[in-house]
Amino acid sequence: MSDVNPTISDRVVSDRHVGAVLAAAAGDALGAGYEFGPPLPADEPVHPRGGGSFNWAPGEWTDDTQMAACILSVLADGSTDIDSIAANFRTWYQHGPADVGIQTSTVLSQAGDLRSIAAEHARAHPSHSAGNGSLMRTAPVALAAPGQPDVIAQLAAEISALTHADLSCQDACVLWSVAIDHQVHHAPRSDQPWSFADAVRVGLEYLPADRRDEWAVLIHRADGASPREFPKNGWVVHAFQAALAAATSTPVPPGPDAGRHLQLTLEHAVRAGGDTDTVAAITGALLGSRWGATAVPAAWQRILHGHAADPTPVLTAIDLDSQARLAANGGRPDPNGWPGRPSMVDHYRQLPRPPQGRDAEFHGVRFGDTVTLDAAIADGAQTVVSLCRMGTDDVPSHVEHHVVGLHDTGHSDNPNLTLLLEDVADHIQDAHLSGRSTYVHCVAAENRTPSVAAAWLIRHHGYDADNALAVAGRGLNPPQSFLVDGVRSVRPAED
Ligand SMILES: [Mg+2]
Repeated sequence: MSDVNPTISDRVVSDRHVGAVLAAAAGDALGAGYEFGPPLPADEPVHPRGGGSFNWAPGEWTDDTQMAACILSVLADGSTDIDSIAANFRTWYQHGPADVGIQTSTVLSQAGDLRSIAAEHARAHPSHSAGNGSLMRTAPVALAAPGQPDVIAQLAAEISALTHADLSCQDACVLWSVAIDHQVHHAPRSDQPWSFADAVRVGLEYLPADRRDEWAVLIHRADGASPREFPKNGWVVHAFQAALAAATSTPVPPGPDAGRHLQLTLEHAVRAGGDTDTVAAITGALLGSRWGATAVPAAWQRILHGHAADPTPVLTAIDLDSQARLAANGGRPDPNGWPGRPSMVDHYRQLPRPPQGRDAEFHGVRFGDTVTLDAAIADGAQTVVSLCRMGTDDVPSHVEHHVVGLHDTGHSDNPNLTLLLEDVADHIQDAHLSGRSTYVHCVAAENRTPSVAAAWLIRHHGYDADNALAVAGRGLNPPQSFLVDGVRSVRPAED
């Protein structure tokens, strides 16, 4: 059975698929530095600062995302083979990860079939086998069978049961994974209301009949509650409720700021204290599948990193993005071979209207296209902000690289347009102020690059929209009207 809403664009669906994985990782990294801490005041700033019990680096994700990546990499190969996922968990454990949950460690330290070991553990320790360690890693599962909640439910339960066979753990993974898929395909535009609790209720029908009522009550109690009401959040039920409570009790900002709900909710989840990285990872999976990867702040994405089953290579936001897109497409890249293709620049240069080599400098930052990219790198660009799909080798690894999901195809493909333009402008400003030689580009600098340049001039250089658009349009190209509207909605930075 396929169940999708055809009015939601493919690009938004992809942004939400990536968002589920990326926001979970971002929540994990945000909470890492606060793990096992007390609840924090509502006005306490929360950052992906690192530190914590295991001395994480700033922006580094923890075991939650390491294990999620063990699942994601199998799905990105186009497989849903449970044994391959189990093998990745084994590999991960054998490398001695910095942090590993007690229950996960107990299961993975025993030889034999994981399903049997986990089932026996649940039988032998009925009151100590319902940790949050499978819910924390379930974000990628929904990508395995888009629009097929019955398949997702089965897979979520099976993957949970590799380490967490307790029925509460399996149920929670089913409800969360089905909710992720439901939101990807059914959540409306960012300016429309949406109930996260109702999205979680969609999965009730995929639970065994005798457990639905209990979960309906648990969901009801969490809907609109404070996440602090669920302090035993190492337990899967409280972790589930704390995450849902954070999502449903954080007000959605009005107008173009709606997507900021993702950031505000993750901060809210972390301030509840306890198992902060895991609750925020669980929360992030739900939030990302509604607001999309484009709602994850660039400042978080820029430093986000960690590993999967093996300690190397170190993966970044771009790697999670690529793997999530492949996973959601049965392991296949798009017709142009992206993601995974070494060079998209080669592809762009063979387009019927290839890029012309546009290049302009405004207040010390260079803006251009995929022809001038090479020159910018040769000239020593230290930060490259790409506003288009890129190949794996188009930007050398010593250059800081950030890829932004801004589309030149229409308003409906950009659910967080104002927010995204402002966020990219702030990211450029941060890189520029830190003394980094910064280059911003899209394919041909006809639409996206002049729009972002104008947003940056408005936000950080005191231009009004008319002047910013005129300057960016003269230097590069005047963008099309929906992007002009987006630029006109950009506000000057507050400081
Ligand atoms: Mg963790």
